[in-house]
Amino acid sequence: MAGSIDDNHDFTLAILGGGSASEALIRELDNGSQRIVVFEPNLMGGECPFVACIPSKAMLHDRAVGREWPDAVRRRDDLVSHLDDGAHAEASRDRGATIVRARAELTAPGVVRAAGTTYHVDHIVVATGAESDIPEIDGLDADHARVWTSDDALTNSDQLSSMIVIGGGVIGSELAFIYSGFGTEVKTLESMSRRAPDLHPRVSELVEQTLGDAGVGVVNDADVERVELRDDGVTVRLGDGSAHDADVLLVAVGRTPRWHGIGLENLGLDPDDITVDPRGRLVSDRDHDVWFMGDAAGQDQYTHVANHHAAVVADHLSGSATRRYDDVVVPACMFTEPPMIVVGPTWADLDGDDDVVWAEIELDTARSATDRLGPGFLAVAARRSTEHVIAAHGIGARFDELTHALVVAIDGEVPIRRLARSLQPFPTVGEILGEAFTELERRLSS
Ligand SMILES: Cc1cc2nc3c(=O)[nH]c(=O)nc-3n(C[C@H](O)[C@H](O)[C@H](O)COP(=O)(O)OP(=O)(O)OC[C@H]3O[C@@H](n4cnc5c(N)ncnc54)[C@H](O)[C@@H]3O)c2cc1C
Repeated sequence: MAGSIDDNHDFTLAILGGGSASEALIRELDNGSQRIVVFEPNLMGGECPFVACIPSKAMLHDRAVGREWPDAVRRRDDLVSHLDDGAHAEASRDRGATIVRARAELTAPGVVRAAGTTYHVDHIVVATGAESDIPEIDGLDADHARVWTSDDALTNSDQLSSMIVIGGGVIGSELAFIYSGFGTEVKTLESMSRRAPDLHPRVSELVEQTLGDAGVGVVNDADVERVELRDDGVTVRLGDGSAHDADVLLVAVGRTPRWHGIGLENLGLDPDDITVDPRGRLVSDRDHDVWFMGDAAGQDQYTHVANHHAAVVADHLSGSATRRYDDVVVPACMFTEPPMIVVGPTWADLDGDDDVVWAEIELDTARSATDRLGPGFLAVAARRSTEHVIAAHGIGARFDELTHALVVAIDGEVPIRRLARSLQPFPTVGEILGEAFTELERRLSS
C-alpha cells in the first residue's frame, strides 16, 4: 500500500516516553547509529527531576536543616525549574533526537501513531513509566481534591495541619517524614505487620522507631474499610473500629507499569500480562522488536535502574548484545533520617537458604559518640559456598553513602577474607563495614 502524507519513515527507533530511561537511551545512542523519535505528552525528563526524586530529596534536606515551609517550597520549585522542561528537551535534541509532544500508541508491528501521524520504525522502546495504584476501598475517589498521590504531595505549596498516608513503603515514609518535619500531623497506615517487611526484622524495628521519633504515627496491620471524603477533609475508618481524620489522604500503596493505553493489544498482547526478558526485550510468540525500560519494564523502580536498562538496550540495539538487566546488583535507599538501605536480595529472598550466613551489627563506632548519632543496624549476608558478600540491609546515619562500598564488594565478588583485611578510616560510620566483614569471616570459618 502506498504511504499516505501522514506516514513518516524518517526514523529507525521510536521511544514512548521522555523520562529518565528515555533520556539515558538517547545519551547512550549519541553516535548517530539510530534516527530517534521520542514521544512525550508531558515533561521531557519524566517524573524524577520534577515530581519525584529531586523535589523529595530537596524537601528532606530542608527539613533536616530546619528551613521554614515557604522557603523550602521556594527552593524546591526553583530546583525543579518551576516544571519547565526546556533544558531536558534541549539536551535530547542536541543529541539528535526528535521530540514529538504527544501521547503515542502502538498500532501494528513497527508502527507508532501519535498526533495524527503514523511512524514506521525498526525498533520500538516502551519507557512510559509507572502510575500510582489506587486501591479498591469503599468511598475512595482518586479524583477528589483531598485524595493525593506523590505528585500532589511534591507540587503542593500549602502547609497542611494533618495528613493520613495509606502505604508504609519508601514513598509513603519519605513523604510522611517530609510533611511531619514541617509541622503536619501525619499518620501512616500499613496493612502489613511491620515496615520494610522484606528486610531484616531489626531494620523494620528501627524504621518504625525513626518514623515515631519524627512524630509520624505508625499503624501496622491497618485494615482500611472505608474512606469518607468531604470538601474540608477526610475520615479513614479501619476494621478495628477506629476512625482517623485529616486534611488530606495520601495514597502510596505502589506503582504499576503503564502498559494500558499504549496499544499493546494491537500487537496481540495482553497489557495485564507483559513479560520482558533479561535483555529488556518483550517476550512474545511473534518476536516483536519491542523493548521495555525503566519503570515500564516492571522491575525495580529507581532512576539508576532506568539508566542501567537504557545502557543494556543500547548495547543490544548497537549489536554488541552482551549485557543484561540482571548483570548488576541493585542498591536502594529510603532517605529518611537516618536512611535505610538495601543492596542485593531481600531477607525474604534469602530466607531458608542454608548456604547463607548473616553478620548483624549494631552501629556503635567512635563517630556515633562524637556526632551523637542515634541507633543504627547493618546486616550483611554471604554465601558459604563462594565466600562472597551477596546482600546488605541496614538503617543508620550516613548509611546511604555506605551503599557504594557494598555494591563494589558484591558486584566485584571480593573475597570476604580480603574485605575483612581492608582498612576503614577512623573515626567514620563506615567502620561498621569492617566489623561486619570481620564477623562474616568468623562465621564462615566456624
Ligand atoms: C515520590 C517519588 C520519589 C522517588 N525517589 C527516587 C529516588 O530518590 N531515587 C530513585 O532512584 N528513584 C526514585 N523514584 C523512582 C524514579 O522516579 C523512577 O524510577 C524513574 O523516574 C523512572 O523513570 P522512567 O523513565 O522509567 O519513567 P518516567 O520518568 O515516569 O517517564 C515516563 C514518561 O512516559 C510518558 N508517557 C506515558 N505514557 C505515554 C505514551 N503513551 N506515549 C508517550 N509518552 C508516554 C510520561 O508522560 C512520562 O513522562 C521516586 C519515585 C517517586 C514517585
